Amino acid sequence: MKPAQFEYFDPGTLDEALKLLRDHGDDAKVLAGGQSLVPLMNFRLARPKVIVDVNKIPGLDYVRDVDGMIHIGALTRQRTVETSSVIKGKCPLLTEATYWVGHLAIRTRGTVGGTIAHADPAAEYPCVLSALGGQVVVKGPAGERVLTADDFFVTFLTTALQPTEMVTEVRFPTVPPEAGWAFVEFSRRHGDFAIVGVAAMVQLDKQRKCTDARIALCGVGGTPFKARSAEAILKGTEVTDKVIQAAAEKVGGEVEPEGDLHGSAEYRKHLAKVLTGRTLRKALEKAGKVG
Ligand SMILES: Cc1cc2nc3c(=O)[nH]c(=O)nc-3n(C[C@H](O)[C@H](O)[C@H](O)COP(=O)(O)OP(=O)(O)OC[C@H]3O[C@@H](n4cnc5c(N)ncnc54)[C@H](O)[C@@H]3O)c2cc1C
Repeated sequence: MKPAQFEYFDPGTLDEALKLLRDHGDDAKVLAGGQSLVPLMNFRLARPKVIVDVNKIPGLDYVRDVDGMIHIGALTRQRTVETSSVIKGKCPLLTEATYWVGHLAIRTRGTVGGTIAHADPAAEYPCVLSALGGQVVVKGPAGERVLTADDFFVTFLTTALQPTEMVTEVRFPTVPPEAGWAFVEFSRRHGDFAIVGVAAMVQLDKQRKCTDARIALCGVGGTPFKARSAEAILKGTEVTDKVIQAAAEKVGGEVEPEGDLHGSAEYRKHLAKVLTGRTLRKALEKAGKVG
């Protein structure tokens, strides 16, 4: 199918784009990589009257290492994330998660800002952002706001972004070199959205006691699920297999996914438990091995 008719603008500056969003409000949609919006428009599930194509705006495509955070411009392609040596060195969890995002052609067009703004509950980047405790920078008529992942993701495909605002930058905390990390997901075919996915980062001291644990899941609800109780089980303990099992059981017991044609709620709960255990074991294998 073809999309419903729309008016098209391709502003050359961020200010012009924000003015268009202000003028058209709910009728307007930002077009970034188009990998989610265009299919929705073609199926007529989205019928924006105005498209604000932000691809010509300079200065929104960058990766910067700033004070323990990796700042990524909203228009940065997922493929740039995948191949960035800065991200591989400082936030390898994000590099690993990118491997699971769609296919090469999709990652070549799809943007970091687009996947965060779209907020698909099965998407990998929101899950990593939630696990690590990252931030989303948005700009609008009232200026700039910096939101935590917890505040940004509201429910299925819904964020705290106002129709007059744009995501301009996404900030991922760096992963300490001695930490272990892993992203594991299950999908029917590689490149499909995850049925369930898990992002984890763990840090151990010299006695191999856990000093920090970050865990989040995708595919188990309307927003990324931050597994705080499981993190608390790990922190301060020597992480044995029994402890991992307890953390995994906790996640499986706490998540409240909905069933759909890809899997029942029970199946997703089971996957959440099994994949949490698998991800933690993988992360722990890397912990303490610098480089
Ligand atoms: C076959 C297929 C498989 C896929 N598999 C996966 C997968 O496994 N994992 C995954 O995460 N994604 C997957 N995707 C989606 C892909 O990652 C998209 O690129 C991403 O969801 C949206 O990014 P985009 O830049 O293409 O955004 P667009 O499609 O251009 O926009 C998506 C939404 O975000 C809004 N938006 C975009 N940029 C901004 C901004 N800067 N500020 C405010 N609003 C903005 C748009 O208005 C729109 O509502 C898949 C897509 C396809 C077609």
